Amino acid sequence: MTLVPFDDRDGMIWWDGALMPWREARLHVLSHGLHYASAVFEGERAYGGTVFRLGDHTKRLQNSARLLGFSIPWTAEEIDDAVTAVLAANALTDAYVRPIAWRGAEQLSVAAQQTKIHLAIAAWPWPNLFGADRMQGVRLGIATWRRPSPETAPTASKATGLYMIGTLAKHEAEAAGFQDALMLDWRGQVAEATGANVFFVIDGALHTPTPEGFLDGITRRTVMSLARHRQIRVVERAIMPEELEAASEALLVGTAAEVTPIRQIGAHHYTPGRITETIARDYAELVRLPPEEVTRRAA
Ligand code: PMP
Repeated sequence: MTLVPFDDRDGMIWWDGALMPWREARLHVLSHGLHYASAVFEGERAYGGTVFRLGDHTKRLQNSARLLGFSIPWTAEEIDDAVTAVLAANALTDAYVRPIAWRGAEQLSVAAQQTKIHLAIAAWPWPNLFGADRMQGVRLGIATWRRPSPETAPTASKATGLYMIGTLAKHEAEAAGFQDALMLDWRGQVAEATGANVFFVIDGALHTPTPEGFLDGITRRTVMSLARHRQIRVVERAIMPEELEAASEALLVGTAAEVTPIRQIGAHHYTPGRITETIARDYAELVRLPPEEVTRRAA
């Protein structure tokens, strides 16, 4: 597979209020965001020209920044418009959208009160995190790295620094022949995968860990609501790794992963079944509906 580097592509990127040619969107090496991980981002998906739950993503971006002690100097409406402008400028209808906000180069020390806050938004075609044959189910290893406690890190923020642990866990899993890693939290409870939330089918109900040290994903909340509409019982609770044995189905959910069945976690094997297939189908349908209809159904 030849990789096309992300800094050498055609297209336009929105940066601090204007669109600029993709290859010119370069950052100075002495930026605070690079040295001290003072950066937050979003991962969004457009279907048929509309970003699914754009309002929720923009709100989370602003909140992620607040949790890191800074405020993005654009309103939610301006950010939403910028996302739409990026899709249009790149002639994209089905795409992954990546806004990122970071502290600039005015100060290069732990103290960063004087830094300017920047925002950039890019978009590119990205069919699915796990590729074309994902519906057969992905294989996860169990990571030795754990999600930190909310007292150790701002875990509710989609902060770049938290992904350091994800990359280590993902590389460890890939080296062992898996596609991703299931991460436990600091207490040893099941948390999430490196870029998606996890659900288990146990006795016909959908069980998922309570988001107490990891991202309460927008897809996660959507899936819970879809399941309830189908009269599938949803149970949010602490899940221990010993319980993986009891599940009949397991699934990953996230903007990039969408709804992806899990075939294996460590020594446990699962067969994608009725509940996974129903949720995957309902999600694929929902994301392509007009935003007003999405809001109405979520009510
Ligand atoms: N956990 C992590 C670590 C993630 O990166 C993501 C993707 N943003 C998720 C969960 C799922 O979140 P969402 O459904 O909002 O994309």
